[in-house]
Amino acid sequence: MIDTNIFQDKTAVYYTLGCKLNFSETSTIARILQEAGVRTARRGEKADICVVNTCSVTEVADKKCRQAIHKLVKQHPGAFVLVTGCYAQLKPGTVADIEGVDVVLGAEQKKDLLHYLGDLHKKERGEAHTSALKDIRSFVPSCSRGDRTRFFLKVQDGCDYFCSYCTIPFARGRSRNGSIASLVEQARQAVAEGGKEIVLTGVNIGDFGRSTGETFLDLVRALDEVEGVERYRISSIEPNLLTDEIIDFVASSRRFMPHFHIPLQSGCDEVLKLMRRRYDTDLFASKVRRIKSEMPDAFIGVDVIVGTRGETEEYFERSHDFLQGLDVTQLHVFSYSERPGTQALKIDYVVPPQEKHRRSQRLLELSDGKLHAFYALHVGQTMPVLLERPKPGMPMHGFTPNYIRVEVPHDDALDNRVVNVRLGDFNAEGTALQGEILI
Ligand code: SF4
Repeated sequence: MIDTNIFQDKTAVYYTLGCKLNFSETSTIARILQEAGVRTARRGEKADICVVNTCSVTEVADKKCRQAIHKLVKQHPGAFVLVTGCYAQLKPGTVADIEGVDVVLGAEQKKDLLHYLGDLHKKERGEAHTSALKDIRSFVPSCSRGDRTRFFLKVQDGCDYFCSYCTIPFARGRSRNGSIASLVEQARQAVAEGGKEIVLTGVNIGDFGRSTGETFLDLVRALDEVEGVERYRISSIEPNLLTDEIIDFVASSRRFMPHFHIPLQSGCDEVLKLMRRRYDTDLFASKVRRIKSEMPDAFIGVDVIVGTRGETEEYFERSHDFLQGLDVTQLHVFSYSERPGTQALKIDYVVPPQEKHRRSQRLLELSDGKLHAFYALHVGQTMPVLLERPKPGMPMHGFTPNYIRVEVPHDDALDNRVVNVRLGDFNAEGTALQGEILI
């Protein structure tokens, strides 16, 4: 039995790196500590506990984690420092050796963090508590309020795909998920807390159902019945798991938004094989066609990695041409990063850094053109926009169902409300369409 008296009136700071899933998990950690009596430290206040939730998707991410830990240790001298997340799971010893770190928790241990906080006395040397990949089995539910408007609901964790460039399966374990009943309950809770939009998040969410025998289509159908949710967005889904039934369901749903984020990674079949991805460009193109035939107005974001091992100049040009011809809205371009323990390291052909940079610039230009054209198509239209809390003295922003960012004059009374807006031209920064509110 944990004696929570130790935590009464203690303060904590939280630092999160990485994906939406990490942010939703940090929010859950904060809720567990809050229930134990720990309050979040105010800005500039010295904290008793520092929690760092790490990412390890690239080498740069690892470095940023170490920098964040050093900075927090300096800012909060004497605080008990707990580090968790993907970098902690992959490199527990390295993290435990960082000056000031007390406890390092792996993917399986983070659910028992109160136990590992112990009496909050600083340790002589950092202690690492992790499990082997095969023993990472728990699904830790989490639903975070990103802001007052949007909640991130974790529906799935882990991955069984082992793409050749990726370490996430080693950091997060095998694919598993919460039950549909528990997720529907969390959606109801989000509505009760004023949430209007819920983003379904996970690692490989299309693989939902591995540990419960349910399916992703079952899940979205059940969530669609939850009263009070204005909007759902599917954060990201593998192309081979984005079935026609799911596309048709989104097209017919009033609550699921016409907004898709689909990782392609390369527009060249030879490179997809080297990446050990589970589809080819024909399948990907067919998914885009199906979405656009059902929802011509849908926003389609696409992840692409440039400079993976084996991506020759010719293969890159093929990838570029495929993307150029694809009716998608935006490319999220990532530069390949060597990851320890991945199969990609066995591929000899290496793309030099400056060439990686040149290729990502090419794709970013292509993406800017597509996004600008998509926005321009909607100038003059009237669309419902869910407005978000504005910063003091700043204009308000929100998104249309198909993820167009809209800017309107500041009005606190419209915070977290869906209003009809006539879309005008781009704002000065070119980051949103200016809107005229039509109440
Ligand atoms: S699907 Fe591939 S890229 Fe995505 S998390 Fe799994 S292994 Fe990594």
